[in-house]
Amino acid sequence: MSGDFLYPDYEIIRDFSRCTVCHDCERQCANGCHSYNEKLGRMVADNAKCVVCHRCVSMCPVSALKIVKTDHTFKQNANWTGDVIGDIYRQAGSGGVLLSSMGNPQKYPIYWDKILINASQVTNPSIDPLREPMETKLFLGGRPDRVEYDEKGQLKDNLPVHLSTQVPVLFSAMSYGSISRNAHEALAKAAAALGTYYNTGEGGLHEDFYQYADNTIVQVASGRFGVHKRYLDAGAAIEIKMGQGAKPGIGGHLPGSKITEDVSRTRMIPEGTDAISPAPHHDIYSIEDLRQLVYSLKEATSYKKPIIVKIAAVHNVAAIASGIARSGADIIAIDGFRGGTGAAPSRIRDNVGIPIELALAAVDERLRQEGIRNNVSIIAGGSIRSSADIVKAIALGADAVYIATAALLALGCHLCRACQLGRCNWGIATQRPDLTARLDPDAGARRLVNLVTAWNHEIKEMMGGMGINSIEALRGNRLMLRGIGLTEKELSILGIKHAGE
Ligand code: SF4
Ligand code: SF4
Ligand code: SF4
Repeated sequence: MSGDFLYPDYEIIRDFSRCTVCHDCERQCANGCHSYNEKLGRMVADNAKCVVCHRCVSMCPVSALKIVKTDHTFKQNANWTGDVIGDIYRQAGSGGVLLSSMGNPQKYPIYWDKILINASQVTNPSIDPLREPMETKLFLGGRPDRVEYDEKGQLKDNLPVHLSTQVPVLFSAMSYGSISRNAHEALAKAAAALGTYYNTGEGGLHEDFYQYADNTIVQVASGRFGVHKRYLDAGAAIEIKMGQGAKPGIGGHLPGSKITEDVSRTRMIPEGTDAISPAPHHDIYSIEDLRQLVYSLKEATSYKKPIIVKIAAVHNVAAIASGIARSGADIIAIDGFRGGTGAAPSRIRDNVGIPIELALAAVDERLRQEGIRNNVSIIAGGSIRSSADIVKAIALGADAVYIATAALLALGCHLCRACQLGRCNWGIATQRPDLTARLDPDAGARRLVNLVTAWNHEIKEMMGGMGINSIEALRGNRLMLRGIGLTEKELSILGIKHAGE
């Protein structure tokens, strides 16, 4: 029982019949959980320090370790659960805002799991993706409403600036500082190998990564960290971050401990100082203001770069997206409330925002009704977990998806949700050189390429099953979806029928 009256949620169990006292667990744990007790003559563990990252479990050479959820419990009830009681003890002890990382873990509906995908049977036969061409290449940006020809009958090739990706998956914004240099390098290399894009987040672009510029989206956030002309010119596209799904309505905060010399140079802020980006952009209070920034960035880059505006999924997301589509932006990125983060106040993460599935369907429908859907492309993000989620997102109206948590899992993240501590034992959410070195960027890039390649195969199989051979033909094709166990209202917002209809 600690000073906060808290019993640890998890216990480290060691099989002493196997343990050879090799001390590997002690070396692997940056949280200082394991040590050798001279008096007892054996290894001991401090459960209270454990964040359940499973590094020691994975690295123990004789599989002597496991982490189990404690069976100790409060005398809780449906209202005063153990988590609620524990949080009150923590805040009564610290007087501070509760911080957490990664996505909203609460028991809200996950609509992806209540949507089913269609398949052809007799008419409109399915397509075999192994024997027939299937197109997953796509273009992101505005497009004309109709095909036009010039007086010589030639197709008019006057498309607005756009991004071109070989797969409908892009790596979402994660800043250098919130994640390690090696994690960033893995993402950059994977994006280049896959013919897609990774995103700098609000941390600027490290000098070593300009070589991946063709596959880089550079972000301009409210703090404007690391933003300069060369940075803007380097990106294949520029993303204005208005909001983030994990923490809508508030800014970002990277603790000074993560602002190492290299991070400080990249962000153009002093070493060791907290990097706090304000909640609003101080020059944006209306769509007209946003339009000014969109066109300032276009002007600064000679109208050669598509501009993405990223927003969090919130209650009036459809109206907000309508304004963005009229602001001159080329792409809208919508981030649902299950989207990950390196650090967010727990109450914001768990209570603010709405699911990406509802937000996406509402935005696509509104833009179609207003006849401006082709002004912009839509990238949906915020807990995309599999190729099936991607197919459902595209059929609901997305052009492509952003992934971040899934990408970090591919790099070895064990979702311990303790990124804010800066001691990631897997070398991802840390700036400690000894921990960063644990992540090999080349091996990480290979795993990312494997993941997205596997998903792309599965997407082609599902498309083939529906008799669709092009990702463009899947976009907004809600006839391919049915709901299961959803209310009339939910079905109406999603714009899909119930299974059996
Ligand atoms: S890594 Fe495994 S074998 Fe080595 S000290 Fe820890 S528990 Fe024992
Ligand atoms: S924090 Fe991670 S490495 Fe340390 S004891 Fe817990 S599971 Fe093992
Ligand atoms: S990135 Fe690291 S610290 Fe963050 S959840 Fe994953 S394993 Fe934990």
